[in-house]
Amino acid sequence: MNETLLPSRRKFLKIGGAALALIPVLAVSGNAMAATNAAMRASMKYQNKPNGDKNCSNCMQFVPGKTAKDLGGCKIFAGDTEISPKGYCVAWVAKPK
Ligand code: SF4
Repeated sequence: MNETLLPSRRKFLKIGGAALALIPVLAVSGNAMAATNAAMRASMKYQNKPNGDKNCSNCMQFVPGKTAKDLGGCKIFAGDTEISPKGYCVAWVAKPK
């Protein structure tokens, strides 16, 4: 047996094993791009329910998701992709009609 090939084969198997170990993690996480901006949510008192007839879907800052019911974004919540159209925060401003 050629002893010089053994270290590289061992290294290859380690890398392959690490790659295989990541597959379930990526599969479970699903939407890897989803994110929330916890600091902004706290400072703006964001909630996942409307305040009377005021909600994200009728706020001029809302960036809708794929459909009207999907989670979207907010122009002032940088990086947050999980804003509910039924949510609300103190920065609410009526969408122009
Ligand atoms: S400013 Fe507040 S109410 Fe308006 S879309 Fe953003 S999170 Fe929703």
